Amino acid sequence: MEKAQKLWNDCLSVIKDNVSPRSFQTWFEPIKPVKLKSKILTLQVPSQFFYEWVEEHYVELLKKTIQKELGPQGKLEYSVVVDNHHSNQKPFTVKLPTTDKKSIKNSAVAMPIDLNQQTPIRNPFIIPGLKKVNVDSQLNPNYAIENFVEGDCNRLARSAGYAVANKPGGTAFNPLLIYGGVGLGKTHLANAIGIEIKKNHPNKTVLYVSSEKFTHQFIDSVKNNTQNDFIHFYQMIDVLIIDDVQFFAGKEKTQDVFFHIFNHLHQNGSQLVLTSDKPPVELQGMEQRLLSRFKWGLSADLQAPDLETRIAVLNKKMYQDGIDLPKDVVEYLAYSITTNIRELEGALISLIAQSSLNKKSITLDLAKQMIDKFVKNTAREVSIDYIQKVVCDYFNLPLELMKSKTRKREVVQARQIAMYFSKQLTKSSLATIGAHCGGKDHATVLHACRTVNNLIDTDKRFRIYISDIEKKINLS
Ligand code: ADP
Ligand code: MG
Repeated sequence: MEKAQKLWNDCLSVIKDNVSPRSFQTWFEPIKPVKLKSKILTLQVPSQFFYEWVEEHYVELLKKTIQKELGPQGKLEYSVVVDNHHSNQKPFTVKLPTTDKKSIKNSAVAMPIDLNQQTPIRNPFIIPGLKKVNVDSQLNPNYAIENFVEGDCNRLARSAGYAVANKPGGTAFNPLLIYGGVGLGKTHLANAIGIEIKKNHPNKTVLYVSSEKFTHQFIDSVKNNTQNDFIHFYQMIDVLIIDDVQFFAGKEKTQDVFFHIFNHLHQNGSQLVLTSDKPPVELQGMEQRLLSRFKWGLSADLQAPDLETRIAVLNKKMYQDGIDLPKDVVEYLAYSITTNIRELEGALISLIAQSSLNKKSITLDLAKQMIDKFVKNTAREVSIDYIQKVVCDYFNLPLELMKSKTRKREVVQARQIAMYFSKQLTKSSLATIGAHCGGKDHATVLHACRTVNNLIDTDKRFRIYISDIEKKINLS
């Protein structure tokens, strides 16, 4: 038991460096090491869902880490706590051997994923009789084009991707360079293009590789004196997808070899798809001749997702995972997380995980707590102006009326509600609030707050107004 704990602590410190703090908190902190026996570490996880998630997303990392700590014979077993709500049974455990199939599959392909830095990498390019068809394309099947939600933010890149997928090498979009900030879908789209090409043109050799991996392979080939194999391998690819080319910046030798491969492929009508976190002009440390090649084709950007796209992404993800969340929760997520689709997904996952771990159903309150904890580090304060706008929208009143001195009944009530929320949700003084709402004094604001409180206690319909408006304000 102690041995297991110690080993797991060592593993955790490695894992921590390899996943985001949020993933670590969500997926690794809840794991308990139960025993370590003949190089098999048994971990207890809180649910079947949890187990599946960890296996699906972190199997490589776990394997790598365990083998680093225990040597190549290191193995992992899971024990899932099964909690039966309807009976008083105690939790019991089932043993599930880790699905080794996945990793075996990955290490048998032409380009093995290096699980263990200590063992020398089998050079992928000197496999005798390597035929084109043997190249594993390294595409991630989860990143299908059907799963890539279309929106204003990505329309150009997406349709260029489609065009390329239909006629790889046969459009003006060669290379196709997809650029955009982190978490906006570059890797997803690049994979989607590859998957479509494989579907439309089964005979074409497609290869997805990160520029980091490309660089490492190149360095190894230099070390092993197999540079020619390396170059030949890449030159026989029909569709080469290189992710995050900004990583090449400052790496002259790698750029040089890539330049030659690029030219060869381009001349032979092979398709190149590149992604980058910056537009070509801003790629510093990149050779001019390479940059000018990038500009031969099309550079299409992915922008921050608009609200509709964010909601659509959440809906799609929920549909895929067979989860159903209340509409207000989905909207809250989409309103709160605006810059990055990866974060949006992360928040959704954390939310589901939280609710499955705590066995609570997902409510707006839970969503807010979670978002505050995981995502929003700085609580934003809503402004009086914003509150007024929401209230006016709700009652369908022009904003000028609220700010005017009119004493029309419906305006007075809306104004009182705005004052009430301003008092509750902002740090403004009564006088400031009054000044914003038709030049009233602090006593009027105080009176408004009391009136609203009274009505909440006594008038059912009014109570509904207030809770509706409150929701809308919180969605800001
Ligand atoms: P990048 O490579 O630009 O950093 P990724 O391609 O890794 O971003 O995308 C981050 C996450 O967001 C992935 O899980 C991806 O599936 C998802 N994603 C990005 N764009 C979309 C989209 N348009 N529709 C659906 N999911 C998306
Ligand atoms: Mg990426």
